Amino acid sequence: MARVYNFSAGPAVLPEEVLQEAADEMLDYKGTGMSVMEMSHRSKAYDTIIKEAEADLRELMNIPDNYKVLFLQGGASQQFAMIPMNLMKNKKADYIVTGQWAKKAYQEACIYGQANKIASSEDKTFSYIPDCSDLPVSEDADYVYICENNTIYGTKFKTLPNTKGKTLVADVSSCFLSEPVDVTKYGVIYGGVQKNIGPAGVVIVIIREDLITEDVLPGTPTMLKYKTHSDNDSLYNTPPAYGIYICGKVFKWLKKKGGLSAMKEYNEKKAQILYDYLDESKLFHGTVRKEDRSLMNVPFVTGNEELDAKFVKEAKEAGFENLKGHRTVGGMRASIYNAMPIEGVEKLVEFMKKFEAENLG
Ligand SMILES: *Cc1c(COP(=O)(O)O)cnc(C)c1O
Repeated sequence: MARVYNFSAGPAVLPEEVLQEAADEMLDYKGTGMSVMEMSHRSKAYDTIIKEAEADLRELMNIPDNYKVLFLQGGASQQFAMIPMNLMKNKKADYIVTGQWAKKAYQEACIYGQANKIASSEDKTFSYIPDCSDLPVSEDADYVYICENNTIYGTKFKTLPNTKGKTLVADVSSCFLSEPVDVTKYGVIYGGVQKNIGPAGVVIVIIREDLITEDVLPGTPTMLKYKTHSDNDSLYNTPPAYGIYICGKVFKWLKKKGGLSAMKEYNEKKAQILYDYLDESKLFHGTVRKEDRSLMNVPFVTGNEELDAKFVKEAKEAGFENLKGHRTVGGMRASIYNAMPIEGVEKLVEFMKKFEAENLG
């Protein structure tokens, strides 16, 4: 067996212990004689799996009782529609556009009501987070929307925007469980799990109870109402059962690792290794304003497209996979999520140093 260092932005690396455990339980989950994949979502065994997953997530994130945790399908992208459909009571919402994912969410919201772009960093290829301390938040906005960590561009909100009392909605797909958060600052926190938690096919929505109502936009399908899923503890219909089971294992792995404060410390240490090198390198450099750098996604370039391509190719041959940058940015991107071991980053930097020595001149 040869595992590579997988720097994919998503679907992304998962903890090896989790994959091994899932493999061990594949044919016979805890004496049931069947795989979790083959199991009724109404069975006692599965009930324990989903309830424990929720309890562990609540413990990890310190989620208050007046927030619901929903395990849904449709990816993060389906939330781009579900949020306005359920939350736009005044048909007005403010969007801070800091990358492609925020832009897509904004464009989707325009279908359902008046979405206002109140800040953007598109003028500089989304390489920074705009000052959000005093934005023109609409008087009757139903919510203010952000993408907290910008997977493609490698920026992260280090302080949350001043929403002037309006409900904050955040897409945290690529920074989910990477550090502690104060859930009470948000109305909705959601993320596709395939970046930092589990297999694609599950999206987790953490939503304050008062935001879950029958008062949704006319025509909202039953499956796209938060209330449907909330009233049925995410079991209105068949949930992405196997995916939730893996998420649950990752939650237990995170607890064993010391929880989110320990994760933050580890992630900072990992990112520092790469950023320190990018700052001193004469060949590679980061593409993002320093104070806005993400701990999870690290884009960098040499400034020469041919050399970038050569680097990606040689890195792959050396066992460093998926380092090619997003097609809209070019260059390289190393995604260093929770499950990327520190050795992976150390070895990558070693490899980059060698490449620099061979190609500078
Ligand atoms: C990957 C990603 C998405 C899209 O996720 P899907 O599950 O593919 O819809 C949305 N937002 C962010 C921040 C992402 O990283």
